[in-house]
Amino acid sequence: MARKCEEGRAVGIDLGTTYSCVAVWQEQHSRVEIIHNDQGNRTTPSCVAFTEDQRFIGDAAKNQAAANSQNTVFDAKRLIGRKFSDPIVLDDALLWPFKVTAGVNDKPIITVNYKGQEKQLCAEEVSSMVLTKMREIAEAYLESPVKNAVVTVPAYFSDSQRKATIDAGSIAGLNVMRVMNEPTAAAVAYGLEKRADCVGERNIFVFDLGGGTFDVSILTIKDNIFQVKATAGNTHLGGEDFDNRMVNYFAQEFKRKNKLDISASSKALRRLRTACERAKRILSFLVVATIEVDSLFQGIDFSSSINRAKFEELNLDLLNDCIKTVESCIMDAKMDKSTIDDFVLVGGSSRIPKVQQLLQDFFNGKELCKSINPDEAVAYGAAVQAALLSKDVKNVPNLVLQDVTPLSIGRSIIGDVMSVVIPRNTCIPVKKTREYFTVEDNQSSSLIKVYEGERTKASDNNLLGSFRLSGFPPAPRGSPSSDVCFAIGENGILTVSATNSSSGNSNEITITNYKERLSSEEINKLIKEAENFHIEDQRFLRKAKAVNALDDYIYKMGNALKKKDIDVKLSSQEIEKIESAIAVATNLLDEKNQQVEIDVLEDYLKGIESRMEQIIAKTN
Ligand code: AMP
Repeated sequence: MARKCEEGRAVGIDLGTTYSCVAVWQEQHSRVEIIHNDQGNRTTPSCVAFTEDQRFIGDAAKNQAAANSQNTVFDAKRLIGRKFSDPIVLDDALLWPFKVTAGVNDKPIITVNYKGQEKQLCAEEVSSMVLTKMREIAEAYLESPVKNAVVTVPAYFSDSQRKATIDAGSIAGLNVMRVMNEPTAAAVAYGLEKRADCVGERNIFVFDLGGGTFDVSILTIKDNIFQVKATAGNTHLGGEDFDNRMVNYFAQEFKRKNKLDISASSKALRRLRTACERAKRILSFLVVATIEVDSLFQGIDFSSSINRAKFEELNLDLLNDCIKTVESCIMDAKMDKSTIDDFVLVGGSSRIPKVQQLLQDFFNGKELCKSINPDEAVAYGAAVQAALLSKDVKNVPNLVLQDVTPLSIGRSIIGDVMSVVIPRNTCIPVKKTREYFTVEDNQSSSLIKVYEGERTKASDNNLLGSFRLSGFPPAPRGSPSSDVCFAIGENGILTVSATNSSSGNSNEITITNYKERLSSEEINKLIKEAENFHIEDQRFLRKAKAVNALDDYIYKMGNALKKKDIDVKLSSQEIEKIESAIAVATNLLDEKNQQVEIDVLEDYLKGIESRMEQIIAKTN
């Protein structure tokens, strides 16, 4: 997957749970440019909405969310690469206003209503729509097509979550040159912005608490080499969990005050959540925040307040979990916490004062770096990586990035025991081979089941895939059965191959046909669907333009007639002609005639314009 791209500009995309950000390396200025979207914002909500007429992505989707909550999808990153029966998904599904159910192989499926029909989507598809939007934002800015991108993922993302992210890129028509770990990307931003002239080795601690994921990493920077020492995290902890706690708290308060339960009303929940998220942000700089939602449920207004202490109490266990993860990362890196030189805060939720205080207390009061933008650092680093992977890009800093594998990888052996071949936090790329032996006399084949995770019982870990190696010649038990080679590439993506030395038989899997992963036919089908969505969006825009242009024209004509600007020299017959043309156009624009073809509207406008020109020319 990691290959030099041949064409176009390559961009870095931070595909966040709540917001996404795109950046590009500007060779003429030797720096990264964060690209603003069509609304002038440097981050774009990772949100997609469906209505009776059209699809919205980004700010437009978020802005209409309260009025169309069931068809406004966010948090796709929390679903990607997971099963529906995952308790985390089940918990989230209770709070999401959109419908999520189990599909084939327990894959979560989101159902929305689009143009009056039910439409089913998988998480990859929703993420691909966000990626498409980010690509379009970059294309508008660069005024050229963008085909190649580095997309970031939490360091703790599993193999299946990484691959699902690559699938999302493919559906969006992007060649994902590499999936890069978010904290590594943030460290690159920090290293280049703040430590460009650093001499000697520095140990950097990256604390990344976003909307839905939490990641910490320890890196050392020496000269131009960024080496990840250890990484830890929780793919399911972030700002939205804090929002959920607040939503539950206020829903109970509403129930107490009004004897009404809002939990079944997705609209009320969505509106309460928006108010809670706003209050949470306010609590990062004030000690009290108010919540006001007009007509929250059954016409009843809701008004309340929350102070910082209560917010911290509601979330204390989650905040303490963050510090436990910090501790385990330090232990994994086999470092003393006093040897950390710099602390980099990334992700919107790292702005929460209690988070900063707990972190600072843990590191005995050391100063935290707050000078890099926590919303943009990850896209910044990804843009540098994208430039490094691109052909002919000049003035890119000559960095070497050495990442580690976030989870142990191995296979099951007799007794459902996990035999770890690549322990977690091993530097990647890596290739390791281990010899295995038969467990029965005359055993003729072996089933190799590949897992990732830290549990000793293999089946408690995450099954990545399996394959059979067969054709062993008859031999007593304990004879060599297979040399199994595990290789992880720069993307963190795994290939497992096995060879039987006596027969020379071999077999291998790149974990691509894993049952939760999309097959190439499914990806192609989704690419086609994405194209259809795009065509429909374009069609909608063209129709809106045609309607507006015709409406505008007849409005001006009608006004001119009313004000007698043009009828002074017109015969009553000509005035009648204009009035009847306006009447026909008004009828075409009538809501009842929604099905009118775009061509009809455009042709009618052209016709009416040329007739008017003739009439007016005659009178001059
Ligand atoms: P990210 O995934 O990095 O874009 O982070 C988004 C999360 O950060 C969302 O849950 C936001 O509510 C949260 N967030 C952004 N700004 C603040 C702030 N000032 N205080 C608390 N949380 C914030």
